[in-house]
Amino acid sequence: MGEFDLIERFFKRPAFRADVGIGDDCAVWSPRSGHQLAFSADMLVEGRHFLPTVNPRHLGHKSLAVNLSDLAACGATPQAFLLSLSLPRADEAWLDGFSQGLFQLSELHGCELIGGDTTQGPLNIAITIMGDTPRGQSILRSGAKAGDDLYVSGHLGDACLALEAFRGKVSLPQAVFDSARLRMECPTPRVALGQALRGIANAMADISDGLLGDLGHILKASQVGAEIDVSAVTPLMLTETLWSCPHDLALDCVLSGGDDYELVFCASPFACAQVQHAANYSGTPVTRIGRITDSQRLVLLGFDGLPMTKSFHSFDHFS
Ligand code: ADP
Ligand code: MG
Repeated sequence: MGEFDLIERFFKRPAFRADVGIGDDCAVWSPRSGHQLAFSADMLVEGRHFLPTVNPRHLGHKSLAVNLSDLAACGATPQAFLLSLSLPRADEAWLDGFSQGLFQLSELHGCELIGGDTTQGPLNIAITIMGDTPRGQSILRSGAKAGDDLYVSGHLGDACLALEAFRGKVSLPQAVFDSARLRMECPTPRVALGQALRGIANAMADISDGLLGDLGHILKASQVGAEIDVSAVTPLMLTETLWSCPHDLALDCVLSGGDDYELVFCASPFACAQVQHAANYSGTPVTRIGRITDSQRLVLLGFDGLPMTKSFHSFDHFS
């Protein structure tokens, strides 16, 4: 199978929103009037972001999910994406699974594949995604205000626990390992919640490198600090994984584990009913975990309500 047969067979679908989709030198797109476009790119590299044994269907899902998560974090509505693939060989069974996982999520979000690039080389998947928001309504990292309540969506720490189990650092009952592994391999981007929080959240980011690290980006951009109640974050793992995880490891996974793709955001205490409404409307659980302060420091309050001294590290590719 040649390069162009491969594109035609696995990636070309009839265009539904693009003026020109796959097949020309450029894709052509007409933005909606009154909207701003939002762009993001995320790359998955074998051995770095996923194990060679991963199910290709899950990998197709995750490649797009991590990009959708960036749009969600800005409150953007997904529109279209470009897929750049470097493949060791044209493995039909692999391409079949990968494209099915990819298109299942793309259809769920009405986000259209409009082009890309395909080359032979080490397995590497790079997606560039485009969404839009009504003009001036993107949610940025820089809008947090002292006194805001701090929230996270969904569950935290399960993906990190699965990785620890893969590395042999913890042993989990099979059913627990399976659900943690699914969280790591098939994350759920919180797209509906992100959009529902437009005009409500003052600042937001998605959690790809761990809660403390990604919250740290909001604090830096907004020049504020935060207090997190450890008693509010500990229960955020999936119940079955939490019960199988030693307490210290649970805290590490929840606070600094990566790959959760949940949203961390803040909003005025006066908006707490609107936050709950956005959570209900989007069918996404939301938990208040602390507040924004004017101290420019990130403080963890332990079960006794006193600041903790334990230090946590978030993920950084070059440190
Ligand atoms: P060019 O020769 O202009 O670089 P290519 O030969 O790389 O174009 O690609 C041909 C067409 O197929 C283009 O429209 C391109 O966007 C599309 N395409 C290439 N690879 C992919 C892919 N992995 N997924 C979707 N579209 C792709
Ligand atoms: Mg090209």
